[in-house]
Amino acid sequence: MTGSTGTAVLDRNGLDALVKELTAQGRMVVGPTVRDGAVVLSELATADQLPFGWGTEVEAGRYRLVPRADGAAFAHTTGPQSWKSFLHPQREKLWSADRASDGRLGVTPEHHEQPSYAFLGVRPCDLRAIAVQDRVLAGGHYEDTGYAERRRGAFLVAAECTEPGATCFCVSMGGGPAADAGFDLALTEVVDDAGHRFLVRVGSDAGADVLARLPRRAADAATRTTAREAVDAARDRMGRAMPPVDLRALMGASAEAQRWDDVAERCLTCGNCTMVCPTCFCTTMEEVTDLTGDHAERWQRWDSCFDLDFSLLHGGPVRATPRSRYRQWLTHKLSTWYDQFDSSGCVGCGRCVTWCPVGIDITEEAAALHDELAERLRRQERESGARRDGTETER
Ligand code: SF4
Ligand code: SF4
Repeated sequence: MTGSTGTAVLDRNGLDALVKELTAQGRMVVGPTVRDGAVVLSELATADQLPFGWGTEVEAGRYRLVPRADGAAFAHTTGPQSWKSFLHPQREKLWSADRASDGRLGVTPEHHEQPSYAFLGVRPCDLRAIAVQDRVLAGGHYEDTGYAERRRGAFLVAAECTEPGATCFCVSMGGGPAADAGFDLALTEVVDDAGHRFLVRVGSDAGADVLARLPRRAADAATRTTAREAVDAARDRMGRAMPPVDLRALMGASAEAQRWDDVAERCLTCGNCTMVCPTCFCTTMEEVTDLTGDHAERWQRWDSCFDLDFSLLHGGPVRATPRSRYRQWLTHKLSTWYDQFDSSGCVGCGRCVTWCPVGIDITEEAAALHDELAERLRRQERESGARRDGTETER
C-alpha cells in the first residue's frame, strides 16, 4: 500500500515489475545500462539491464566505470548522453518531396506516431534540463511539434542522486540531488543491512496509477530516514561549484576579458560540449536529393555554435575565431539564455566538463572570468583613488 503521503518501498522485484508495467502500457522504457565502457541510455526490456554494481569515476576530460560492491543500480553519474537524444533526436526527417510522372511536385510531411517513452532513472539535474528544453522547444510561439508530442507522452521516473560525481555542480546552479518537480515517480535507492530497496515518491496521477499496480510495501521510517540522509549528504559532496556571484552580470561585464584568449588556446572547437549538454538545442536543416532529382528530403539535425558554419552569413562567419565561439557558448548558457527563456541554460550536470577532450571546465572558466573582473574593478578603484588624491594635492 502507498502511504498517505504517496510513498512506498519497492524491492528489486518491484523495479522489474515497474519496467513490465510501463512496457505493458505500450511505452518504450529507456534507462541507463552499461555498454562500450560507459553508462549509456538505451531501451530496456527488463530492470536487470540497469547498471547494477557499476559506478563511475569522472574528472575534467576523463570518465571510467568502476565496479561497486554494494550492487547499486543508480550510483553512477551522468553519462555521454542525455534524454534529449530521445525527446529531441540528433536527426529527424521533416518532409519529403517527389516528382510525379506528370512532372508535378508533391510534398509529404513526415508524420509518424511518436513513441510513448518511459524514462527510468532521470537525474534531478536532467529533470531541470527537460524543463528548460520544454520552454525552448514547446513553450514559445513556434513549437517543435515532434518534441512536443514525444514530451507529452513521456512518463518520467526520477532517480535521486546519492553519489554525485567530481564534475557535478547542480547545487551551485540552484538545483540539487533531490527531485522536487517534473516527475511521475521518484526513486531513492537504499542499500544497507536491511537490504536493497527503493523509496518511491509519487509526483503525478499517472505515477500513482502505475505505483498502485506494483508489488510494494508501505514506506517505513528507517528507509525514509536513510534515503533522506543519503540525498542530503550528496548535496554536501558536489565535486565542483560555480563561483557564488551573479553569473548573468559577470558574463555581461566580461565581453572583452583576456580569459577568452586563454581558453581559445585550449579549445578544439569540436562541439562535444554542446552535443552532450542536455539543454543545448540548436539544429540546422539539410536537404538531400537522389541522383535523379525526383526525390528530395529535408532533415533537421543537431548543430553546434562551435561549428564555423553555424554563424555563416553572406560574406563569411560572424564568429570566425575559437575565442568568439567559446565566448558565445558560455555567455549564452549563463547570461543571455535568461533574456530568451527566463532561466539559466546550465543545470550543473557536469557533462561538458567530463566529455571535453581537453578538460575545459565551465566552472573554472567562470571563476577565472570572475577573478579577472574583480582585479579590473580593483585596478579601476586604485586609479580613480590616485586621480582623486592628485586633484586634492594640486589644490
Ligand atoms: S570546450 Fe571542449 S568540448 Fe567544447 S568545443 Fe572546446 S574542446 Fe570541444
Ligand atoms: S553547460 Fe555543461 S554543466 Fe551546464 S547543463 Fe550543459 S553540459 Fe551540463
